[in-house]
Amino acid sequence: MNFADLGLSDELLRAIDESGYNEPTAIQAGAIPSVLMMRDMIGIAQTGTGKTASFVLPMIDILAHGRARALMPRSLILEPTRELAAQVAENFEKYGKYHKLSMALLIGGVQMGDQVKALEKGVDVLIATPGRLMDLFERGKILLTGCNLLVIDEADRMLDMGFIPDIENICTKLPANRQTLLFSATMPPPIKKLADKFLSNPKTIEVARPASRNENIEQFLVKTSERGKRDTLRDLIEAEEVGTAIIFCNRKTTVRELAKSLQRYGYKAGEIQGDMDQSSRTAELDRFKAGTINILVASDVAARGLDVKGVSHVFNFDAPWHPDDYVHRIGRTGRAGAKGRAFTLVTPSDDEAVDNIQKLTGYKIPVHGGGKADAAPAKDEEGEPRREKSGRGGRTKRGDTEKPAAKPAKKTGDRKPTPTKPRQHDDDDPDDGWNGPMPDFLSVGFGS
Ligand code: ADP
Ligand code: MG
Repeated sequence: MNFADLGLSDELLRAIDESGYNEPTAIQAGAIPSVLMMRDMIGIAQTGTGKTASFVLPMIDILAHGRARALMPRSLILEPTRELAAQVAENFEKYGKYHKLSMALLIGGVQMGDQVKALEKGVDVLIATPGRLMDLFERGKILLTGCNLLVIDEADRMLDMGFIPDIENICTKLPANRQTLLFSATMPPPIKKLADKFLSNPKTIEVARPASRNENIEQFLVKTSERGKRDTLRDLIEAEEVGTAIIFCNRKTTVRELAKSLQRYGYKAGEIQGDMDQSSRTAELDRFKAGTINILVASDVAARGLDVKGVSHVFNFDAPWHPDDYVHRIGRTGRAGAKGRAFTLVTPSDDEAVDNIQKLTGYKIPVHGGGKADAAPAKDEEGEPRREKSGRGGRTKRGDTEKPAAKPAKKTGDRKPTPTKPRQHDDDDPDDGWNGPMPDFLSVGFGS
């Protein structure tokens, strides 16, 4: 299958060619012709399979004719996070370079004034997170009556993040005869319901997961103890000769502390988490992409869907609480045909989390190197008082290293005790943790 067989324009084929894609991925080959025929469509394919281009490419050709009017975007793409919205915008710039289309990015954390100005000029493509879009809509700053094409991207993440009511609300503001495309890695019942309600006679294109896991990613569990985690991690980084790695933690605090600790040990490490403002997140990501740093410590939400080429390793410093997050985390490596390795540090209190992951993926993750836990002594790093585990009641094989210290570690600072039932991300609102205005609102005409 070739891009030229899909019915795309010559200008677009040229831009695709220059971007270095040789052939369409399965979801692209399936989706593009239907989208060009203006059909509603449901696209289901796992992370990293190229879903973005499967709507961006045909949209560029669909929007090539016609003019944008003030306050009335011609098309709308909904994304769960600011980072994903920005990535879609980059795709439009890259493939739309031979077209004259305008776009605006409407994401939480940027000043409203600039966004409104862009909208007033009129845009062909509006890329938005649901919260910010509803906000502007309710202030009467935006009309959705001219929006004839709607994309609901990463629908399962939208569900996780509680955006479904916003999306339903938005759907009712758009013309009823619009074209609607929905993309998701999985189809949980609430997404199915949403599709039934707001898509009409959709064509469903589902790309089967190869045995529900990406064969390019080698996965391992690494047994350790709560206190031995940092040592175990550094040992792994050394042993693995890590090129570029993303390290996931369950909490923002852990992200901050681990990044600092790695820096103290001389690693080129950076961080991305929900308490950082948008410009710092972008800057950090750029440093990572440029290779200034080669280790990025991240929280789930901040790193959701991030597409960075050539990530050789993913480390789960904490086993994720939600099994779904595991799939998304390790999907940051092994992308576009490359090989990747994913390590999950596990303590005895993670048994249940690991069980859930293995149930979801149907894959029993092998234990790395056997008795690694015993090889990692619980060194007392930086002379900090040792933190006790609280409330998890996990038992370890090596009672001696895990014995609670005689006096409670009264450490000042922002450490929070481990919640007994951690079921929530502490930064799972994409528009949360915003600390100030960001000047770099993106409104660009692309194509020259
Ligand atoms: P998804 O949304 O399905 O998770 P993305 O759209 O983010 O996946 O694409 C994942 C990666 O694959 C990106 O780096 C993208 O540039 C790359 N990619 C997409 N389509 C192709 C293609 N046809 N050929 C080569 N690489 C591609
Ligand atoms: Mg995507």
